[in-house]
Amino acid sequence: MFKFTRFFATKATPQREPIPGSHQVPNSAGGFTWRVDDWARLDRFLILGSEGGTYYISEHKLTVENAEAVRRCITADGVRTVDRIVAISDAGRAPRNDPAIFALAMAAKLGDERTRRAAYAALPKVCRIGTHLMHFADYAQGFGGWGRGMRKAVGAWFNAKPAADLAFQLAKYQSRDGWSNRDLLRLAHPRAASPSHDRLFAWAVKGELPEAAADDPALALIVAMAELAKTTDVKAAAKLIRDARIPRECVPTQLLVHAEIWDALAAAMPMTAMIRNLATMTRVGLIAPGSAATRRIAEQLTDARRLAGARVHPIAVLAALLTYRSGHGARGGGTWSPVAQIADALDTAFYASFGFVEAAGKRMLLALDVSGSMGCGAIAGVPNLTPRIGSAAMALVTAATERSSTFVAFSTELTTLSISPRQRLDDVVAEVERLPMGGTDCALPMLWAQQNRVDVDTFCVYTDNETWAGSVHPAQALRAYRDARGIPAKLVVVGMTSNGFSIADPDDAGMLDVVGFDTATPPVIADFARA
Ligand code: CA
Repeated sequence: MFKFTRFFATKATPQREPIPGSHQVPNSAGGFTWRVDDWARLDRFLILGSEGGTYYISEHKLTVENAEAVRRCITADGVRTVDRIVAISDAGRAPRNDPAIFALAMAAKLGDERTRRAAYAALPKVCRIGTHLMHFADYAQGFGGWGRGMRKAVGAWFNAKPAADLAFQLAKYQSRDGWSNRDLLRLAHPRAASPSHDRLFAWAVKGELPEAAADDPALALIVAMAELAKTTDVKAAAKLIRDARIPRECVPTQLLVHAEIWDALAAAMPMTAMIRNLATMTRVGLIAPGSAATRRIAEQLTDARRLAGARVHPIAVLAALLTYRSGHGARGGGTWSPVAQIADALDTAFYASFGFVEAAGKRMLLALDVSGSMGCGAIAGVPNLTPRIGSAAMALVTAATERSSTFVAFSTELTTLSISPRQRLDDVVAEVERLPMGGTDCALPMLWAQQNRVDVDTFCVYTDNETWAGSVHPAQALRAYRDARGIPAKLVVVGMTSNGFSIADPDDAGMLDVVGFDTATPPVIADFARA
């Protein structure tokens, strides 16, 4: 007999050909996968951005593809798009806020009347600090000028803040990326909401202390900064910083070499700033083995409530841990001797930053794609943070809550891994980095489990979906596994780049697409596995 099914069958199709009747499209690697819809693409972009591109797709092309998807979402349902931007930005689900700010600027400039109104109304929720507002102004300029809606919204951003909060914003973020408060206030030209606002606007525009500043409690920080600028005595400067809660950005550079100054700054330092300045605080000697400051800072870093309140993203913690342990900055910044207590605290903080995830209590196979393409790119612009390292970190979070989870890594071969969340995160990263790279066959986790009679309720595959090398598609391998083992196994595809592909069959309710580095991903995986 002539074996027609060798060339045309729905149960087993080589990955370089589409499953017949499936609407699969070619991915960047020459394999066939499904295309994620524009709303899923919007989520991927909001969480992963497009900075640095991927192994296959240039930064330029990836940015255009994602922005086009955002534009289509705005056209299809602008208000829904704005709601989605707010939901992801406001909950701190993304490692960086810039994709959300960019998408909001597009909605404000390209949307219909209702969408524009919704976008401007959402401005304070998405642009929470001065830097965000400056980035919004910059992005918006790419799509239009300063119309009435824009002027009103930016003016309202300044006026809606209580005067003392506004003073802090104006002082801390005076200018960023070619924009200053002076530019924004001149363009928006808001009528001041109060005499204090009026004085603050005047200070931001002219740079001089306005009259009666000393008598206005809302301007206390501005007055203290002016005094600090004249202070050369370190002790007196430290006292001023402590009393007026002056942030680091407002402290003259020559003072920032003293441990005493950093001790004063640390007292009121927000969590994200603390995480970013650990190396500096170590270099100046404030953080030292066994010091009181080290103990205090380590306690703060591991305080789950404070981490949640400050919306600290696990990627920020992971990046800090990798840099801190290395003892030298990625882009200069000198060297330091890392203190173990702080590295330990960051390890704890990483898991804590996801919040509490209730275990699904299912048998899980956590499969890391370690093919060559996963070693390329910098997630959220963090140097050396590749999708490969990021996958391991994300998988560890699920492993930390699910007792019966097994780790495997695959390219065109599969390796079982003996890593566990009881190990230090950076040790796991080092172990994963040592694994050999190769081609990509995302069907291997299912094929391996079937061959080795491993019972799995939920497969979690961490990948860029650029699969091509196998003789059967991952979705087909999953269906074969279900039949062979009699387990209605599910597949969660954790997308680690913002490309438009997925190995998950959209018509199979047992397969789900989620975005890597979304802080909502571990609870979503647990819910899906439990259902
Ligand atoms: Ca690959």
